[in-house]
Amino acid sequence: MRAAPDGAWEGAALPGPARGVYRHRMAHPATSTPRLDVLVIGGGPAGRAVAGECAGRGLRTALVDPQPDRPFTATYGCWAAELPVDLPASVVAARARGRAVAHRTHALGWQYAVFDVPALRSHLDERLADVVVHAARATHSPGPGRVALEGGGDLTASVVIDAAGRWQPLGGRRPGRPGRPARAEAEQTAYGVVVPAEVAAPLVPSGEALFMDWRPDHGEGGWPTFLYGIPVGGGEVLLVETSLARRPGLPVPVLRRRLLARLARHGIRVPPDARTETVRFPVDHPRHDSPGVLGFGAAAPLVHPATGFSLAAALRLAGPVADAVVAHLDAGPDAGPEAARGRARRSLAPSGEGSSRLSSDRARGPAADAAERGSGVLRRLLRASRAAAVGLPHRS
Ligand SMILES: Cc1cc2nc3c(=O)[nH]c(=O)nc-3n(C[C@H](O)[C@H](O)[C@H](O)COP(=O)(O)OP(=O)(O)OC[C@H]3O[C@@H](n4cnc5c(N)ncnc54)[C@H](O)[C@@H]3O)c2cc1C
Repeated sequence: MRAAPDGAWEGAALPGPARGVYRHRMAHPATSTPRLDVLVIGGGPAGRAVAGECAGRGLRTALVDPQPDRPFTATYGCWAAELPVDLPASVVAARARGRAVAHRTHALGWQYAVFDVPALRSHLDERLADVVVHAARATHSPGPGRVALEGGGDLTASVVIDAAGRWQPLGGRRPGRPGRPARAEAEQTAYGVVVPAEVAAPLVPSGEALFMDWRPDHGEGGWPTFLYGIPVGGGEVLLVETSLARRPGLPVPVLRRRLLARLARHGIRVPPDARTETVRFPVDHPRHDSPGVLGFGAAAPLVHPATGFSLAAALRLAGPVADAVVAHLDAGPDAGPEAARGRARRSLAPSGEGSSRLSSDRARGPAADAAERGSGVLRRLLRASRAAAVGLPHRS
């Protein structure tokens, strides 16, 4: 990507899988461009999915991200039943039966799916062919349908979607309570290693996914953590020591120490060149309630309050949100940006309910069902973890 030398925008066709996507570095106010139908802030999986669905329905769509070419680096997974039906099979790297271990082993009855993350990214990028992508950072929304960009300039659109994850740049932060120090966020933190499947076999037999192993085999007291083990394709397994939700998040060095101790106890030696993965994200994000802006993805939040998952919900709901925008931007008695936004917001709410209960129930899906209905032990553990994180009393 080249910065435009003369203050104008410069577009360039991306090579490779994102071929046909045009991206621009904002060098000067964009007020002379035709009004957009939809402006998506954030180029993570949720932003790309909803931008692609909007453009695919003929809406003039743009997407803003400070680093739109940065690859996704996390290993993403979900319950197989949560996958959108039209997602190509090629974006799934591996599937496995879910299992959890507490006092005894529980077959969860659901299959777990792990994404082939580069394939998912290519799939989402192919749908951005008609989306204008700006390499820029949104700072705030100075008025309905307007988004200010860092360094000056703004963009306008009939419908603005904040899909910028935990950052929620258009989220309209609520002031803290007077006289009270700001509380640290409740976070999910985790540390993992990717090892050959045969190395992981003592804990994750072939064809299985270990959703949660709560045995304290790491040998430490204090805050409970569990092992999560999933095949990631290519004959490899990701083994992750996870703290579900804690305020503040359990430090990653503690998780690393516990993981290595747990694996050693099961005779698993981690190869010195094993890839590692660090997870840290908030799980008590404020609901996105900024007037005139639709929150989507982890910014909505579509984040499940216990598991922290949001990706499958975002992929599934991107189409219905785009449908709602199309229906209500079209001419008609209740047409217009406000109607489109309101309708899109309702499409994120549980069916038959109003816009006030955005998302998390809808985002729960089979993941939550598996965790919360599938086993009483898991239900209690999830509740305890969540309650501890948000400082609520809790009945065991
Ligand atoms: C290591 C790891 C593993 C995870 N595993 C899973 C999993 O298995 N399943 C699952 O469902 N979830 C998982 N999560 C949670 C995961 O973060 C979310 O599900 C997913 O990334 C949310 O996608 P999103 O597009 O909503 O937000 P994000 O992926 O956070 O994307 C937000 C985007 O907004 C951009 N942005 C930020 N600020 C601005 C701004 N001011 N202006 C413009 N753009 C901005 C960022 O650059 C980013 O590209 C994992 C997270 C981590 C860290």
